[in-house]
Amino acid sequence: MRYFLSISLLTFSLFAKEEVIPGRYIIGFKEGARSTDVLSSLPISEAREFKGRSSLVEVTLNGPLPRINRDEIDYIEPVYRIQHNIKAAPYIGEDQWGLDNSNNIDIDAPEAWEITQGSEDVVVAVLDSGVAFAHKYLKNNIWHNEAEIPDNGIDDDENGYVDDTIGWDFVYDDGYPIDGTHHGTHVAGIIAAHGKVLGVAPKTKIMPLRFIDGDGSSTTSDAVRAIYYAVDNGAKVMNNSWGGGTYSRAIDEAVKYANDNNVFFVVAACNKYDPDNGPFDCYPAKLNYPAVLSVASIMRNGKMNPYSNTGKWIHVNAPGADILSTGPGGNIYMNSGTSMAAPFVSGIVALMYAVNKDLTVEEVKEILLSTGRKLPQIQGYTKTGRLVNAVEAVNRALELVRH
Ligand code: CA
Repeated sequence: MRYFLSISLLTFSLFAKEEVIPGRYIIGFKEGARSTDVLSSLPISEAREFKGRSSLVEVTLNGPLPRINRDEIDYIEPVYRIQHNIKAAPYIGEDQWGLDNSNNIDIDAPEAWEITQGSEDVVVAVLDSGVAFAHKYLKNNIWHNEAEIPDNGIDDDENGYVDDTIGWDFVYDDGYPIDGTHHGTHVAGIIAAHGKVLGVAPKTKIMPLRFIDGDGSSTTSDAVRAIYYAVDNGAKVMNNSWGGGTYSRAIDEAVKYANDNNVFFVVAACNKYDPDNGPFDCYPAKLNYPAVLSVASIMRNGKMNPYSNTGKWIHVNAPGADILSTGPGGNIYMNSGTSMAAPFVSGIVALMYAVNKDLTVEEVKEILLSTGRKLPQIQGYTKTGRLVNAVEAVNRALELVRH
């Protein structure tokens, strides 16, 4: 029963019909083919750019989408609303079993920390509801954009964002990506908390990118903006504890851009709203790029979390039930879900890059698919049936150091 109370259903649903935002579309032009003719032929009431992506535009129409059959256009898709539900449980005084545990259902974090606790040169972008960046266990591990002078109203580094000194809030379009739901703060702590609770990589840096609002709602277009920001501003890893049932071409292309720029994309495999529901295809987790690694959730007894999605397309398993991490007001609390499992893997990837910054996304993925223990209780539920292991992954990363 305690488990049920502490579950949080952190799946963002992207279910096709009712989640389309009426009148809003992402238009993808072919390379170099953006045309004002096409845009002026549409009943546009508002147009929003994707900074640095001249071939993309988001439009709001004040009438129906006319039939467009123009050579310049690659695709047009509706903007979807992305939502999540959170049921936060209070802190109940349990340990951080996922890091180290007497039954050895854990990722062997202390053994990995004898080799590395992470590097401040490795930046993990947390694409989420924001991060409580002043939290006492997180504040020393927040990325700083050294090229941006705080609060001078100038885009000093000319990346399209004014005063983006620690990340960006795509909900309010400002440089203060504070957390409106506590979800992103919990995720960030699992990766890099340093204090009374510890993250997997307690010396790595977090880049907070808020694209989910205080109601747990967002859009595919803001997800796309956050992905491009992370890649263009130096993240090595992206943690994505969000997803849903609908494919988006615009998100697919943004993830491909991350892949092509050697940025690793860790993504939760989605929760089920009801344990009796069957498995389903979850995006962006199911996107098939070398940089994409999807993560299902297990409990401390080594069994699948009954709320975790399953499927042979899901790559690995990580702890994701009763996970202790950073919370609102400088506190710590427990939360559950595949949202909590993904950041364990992001933390491990951060440790791998700390000992070998030259790893390719293909190498990172191969290491994660081939290390870790095959737990008997989870065989058949995911591709590898493996619980990720930090020390094995770090040792394999070390073996690949180029001299
Ligand atoms: Ca800037």
